[in-house]
Amino acid sequence: MNDVRVRYAPSPTGHLHIGGARTALFNYLFARKHGGAFIVRIEDTDRKRHVEGAEGDQLEQLRWLGLSWDESIDVGGPYGPYRASERLSIYRAHIEELLERDLAYPCFCDDATLEAKREAARSRGEVPRYDGTCARLTPKERRARLASGEPHAVRLRVPAEERIAFSDLVRGEVVFRSADLDDFVLMKQDGMPTYNFAVVVDDHLMRISHVIRGEEHLSNTPKQLLVYRAYGWTPPSFAHLPLILNEARQKMSKRDETLEQFVEQYRALGVLPEALVNFLALLGWAPEEERELFTLPELIERFSLERVSKSPAVFDRAKLRWMNQMYYKARSSEDLARLALPHAVRAGWLPEVPDEATWRRFVAVVDLVRGELGTAREIIDAAARFYRQDDDVLDVQALEAEARSLLIAPESRAVLSAFVRAMDARGGEGEFVPEDVRALFQAVRAETGQKGRALFMPVRLAATGEAHGPELDRTLSLLGPARVRRRLVLALERLEQWTQNQYNETDRENHRA
Ligand code: GLU
Repeated sequence: MNDVRVRYAPSPTGHLHIGGARTALFNYLFARKHGGAFIVRIEDTDRKRHVEGAEGDQLEQLRWLGLSWDESIDVGGPYGPYRASERLSIYRAHIEELLERDLAYPCFCDDATLEAKREAARSRGEVPRYDGTCARLTPKERRARLASGEPHAVRLRVPAEERIAFSDLVRGEVVFRSADLDDFVLMKQDGMPTYNFAVVVDDHLMRISHVIRGEEHLSNTPKQLLVYRAYGWTPPSFAHLPLILNEARQKMSKRDETLEQFVEQYRALGVLPEALVNFLALLGWAPEEERELFTLPELIERFSLERVSKSPAVFDRAKLRWMNQMYYKARSSEDLARLALPHAVRAGWLPEVPDEATWRRFVAVVDLVRGELGTAREIIDAAARFYRQDDDVLDVQALEAEARSLLIAPESRAVLSAFVRAMDARGGEGEFVPEDVRALFQAVRAETGQKGRALFMPVRLAATGEAHGPELDRTLSLLGPARVRRRLVLALERLEQWTQNQYNETDRENHRA
């Protein structure tokens, strides 16, 4: 299969959606697998839906994902131009051919009339279709109206009753009836081609061998096949990729703001491109082996359209998070810190350009909590214990019951004050290394006789406000002695206060009794 030529043909109507990215990826994998060409073509003839900057943005996100292409608006190629809006004369010339052969005809019906007829059909409970008014004009009438410069669209003559069948490489035999189609528009009044027309001209002239695209285009395929037939061209093979559903198994809506659906949103979360590519590859395709983690070269080696599923794929964010976590393992803590930095900046923890010491400390924090990160944004939860204001660390009331009863026990207060005393005895603020922390615990243990959970938990709760977290000696050494001391003293004050309140409460109740 060496004449494999496939294309991804985005319309620049917004950011790169994960559905589009999946289509691009599958085309890329197929091209690379078969040593063919991957083309990125811009379908920008729908000016109403055009979004400024979307075209460059889409290419940028594809590049970030690690995809490369052989022909496009940026790298050129032998079948250009690759932007539909620069191919208008090509479409025009092709329309002329169909008009001359009377396979298409000019339609002079104006929008208002068409809309009124559609409305009438809908109110009769019928599917609106063009009634063929202009199909029935005589050649003479047509010539006269054209000569007078009357505005017109161009419609294809669709055969009345014909079976349109093709063999989809994913879905198998697909059959449509031409009776369900009307004479659809190929070129609009303003001279712009419609998608169903331009896509055929472009795919043919660009010698596309396989059209691999989303299932939402399945119903466009019979129209496109009729255009191929009108020209006598051999259509490419088609492969329609299954829908991508959200976690509630509903069709995704681009307007659903509760779900990140655009590549750049995942990028902003700190998801790695290799994780996203791996995840997208498994949306509707499965390798033979029971394995989930694949690099791009491994995906190329394994990819085949035969293993693309007909049933919808579900976009499972927990799985993407897991995958990203797996790919984080291969990255240095410095790399992860770079991904996490924008989030820390937004949280007000770090300046955009931190000085060396601040940066080193941040890298050390990331190094300690990296196992907790599914995305870089999660640094906000995972590292809060290090950057929170000391005042905000401990909320006795908010602790889980078990942690709270441990902390308010007099033994815990004894541990905390012993820890503060041991720190003071150690002298100076200086720096803490994990061994220093271990030495302090030794001293506290000797003084209070507490060990294990009773020894460590009060200090963990007082210093971090949390019952769980990474190794305590590293945590405390990263917090540094000054902060640890302040937090322990604050905790003692709060416990004092809390006990006092409880006491007053009981007192009042006793009075009432
Ligand atoms: N421009 C179309 C889209 O963005 C491409 C459809 C096709 O691949 O034929 O959906």
